[in-house]
Amino acid sequence: MTDDSVTANAASAAYRNALEIISGVEPGVATAIRAELADQRASLKLIASENYASLAVLLTMGTWLSDKYAEGTIGHRFYAGCRNVDTVEQLAADHAKALFEAPHAYVQPHSGIDANLVAFWAILAQRIEAPALAEAGVRHVNDLAEDDWEQLRRALGDQRALGMSLDAGGHLTHGFRPNISGKMFHQRSYGTDPETELLDYDAVRATAREFRPLVLIAGYSAYPRKINYAKMREIADEVGATLMVDMAHFAGLVAGKVFTGDFDPVPHAHVTTTTTHKSLRGPRGGMVLCQPEFADAVDRGCPMVLGGPLGHIIAAKAVALAEARQPAFQTYAKRVAANALAFAEGLQRRGVRLVTGGTDNHLLLIDVSTYGLTGRQAESALLDAGIVTNRNSIPRDPNGAWYTSGIRIGTPALTSRGFGLDEFDQVADLIVGVLSATTPDGTSKAKYSLPEGVATKTRAVSAELLAAHPLYPALDLG
Ligand code: PLP
Repeated sequence: MTDDSVTANAASAAYRNALEIISGVEPGVATAIRAELADQRASLKLIASENYASLAVLLTMGTWLSDKYAEGTIGHRFYAGCRNVDTVEQLAADHAKALFEAPHAYVQPHSGIDANLVAFWAILAQRIEAPALAEAGVRHVNDLAEDDWEQLRRALGDQRALGMSLDAGGHLTHGFRPNISGKMFHQRSYGTDPETELLDYDAVRATAREFRPLVLIAGYSAYPRKINYAKMREIADEVGATLMVDMAHFAGLVAGKVFTGDFDPVPHAHVTTTTTHKSLRGPRGGMVLCQPEFADAVDRGCPMVLGGPLGHIIAAKAVALAEARQPAFQTYAKRVAANALAFAEGLQRRGVRLVTGGTDNHLLLIDVSTYGLTGRQAESALLDAGIVTNRNSIPRDPNGAWYTSGIRIGTPALTSRGFGLDEFDQVADLIVGVLSATTPDGTSKAKYSLPEGVATKTRAVSAELLAAHPLYPALDLG
């Protein structure tokens, strides 16, 4: 963590006072805030999408920038008095552009889903709406005649998107039916090779040639490998698609220069989206980076699909992005990837089957079917032993998306606490110990039994590891 003890001591006083004030209004909330810190300090957090933001980032979120409405863009707002929101939004956008070497950055999205919605509608606006307006000889959509508008609405609803399948590691927002993206687009997905479980670029190309998508989506939540975005762009160009990359999970590895060249999405994608709270270690939120031709459309995210910008969160994004521009963040990102590799080796040495046979990013996917367990049973047993993970489908999963056959684990959070190669090897040992000791209950895909002795011993070992790498060490809430 970047927080030194001076910062943490000052933060201790700030938080103690803040909690006293909150407690005077709703003690239940103050108690939950204290309990959450205790829980996070006491568990091995291996959820690949979670992290620990710095105290500077956390403190920035609790300010009166929250109270300001600022619809619009920097210097062009629908409300008066937005100069301070302008300042923080400009800082965040400038840091994002410098960090990712992006021509344009839009930092308003409230979350990753929102960033993807902004991107989709910006692509539709640029590729479908703008030509329709030009053809009708009008500048604004309000000026279209009723018939032309109806035609445009139909055209907007008749576009195609191609993204990675859910069980190969794609995300729900990449055109799947339960999400609005799947209701907006006709969707097709590409999977991974049945043998290697790796992305097969030739298969992606063949599907793209046949399906002719408007948007080719790359990016994932649970694919443990890097992707060659130069190749994906080649495929997009060949079929006339816009390449959109969702780097929500691995933005920290891009920022930290672990993924460079063909594996850095930003120079290759027309539009890149991300969250700011996962491997990037910022506040919860989203962001869109894009090539200049998409900038105007992206900047219309609010009010196109977003509500008023969250000034306090945008300010915290600026702080987190400033942190990510420090050399220490590159060291952190490299450790995240090195730890994932050591973790994978430690698990495999102990007989675990990993989807794709390993990792080259921050996450791993364990196939728990080799232990006769569902993902649901494994997730619960690990939690009983104080290890927080999440179940996840594996390719061609016989147990579907609810029970699953996989456990997804990641290294960003514990690397922030200072865990290194040895500690991850010990965590691998704990995980294998729990999985081997868990017995499925034949009557249900959710029920299982784990001997109490194993859970207790695992919790004791993890408590030692956690004590050696405390979270916000000098932060004392009293
Ligand atoms: N995109 C990807 C690849 C994700 O993994 C996630 C979250 O898990 C999202 C988007 C959505 O992010 P949020 O939860 O901030 O909306």
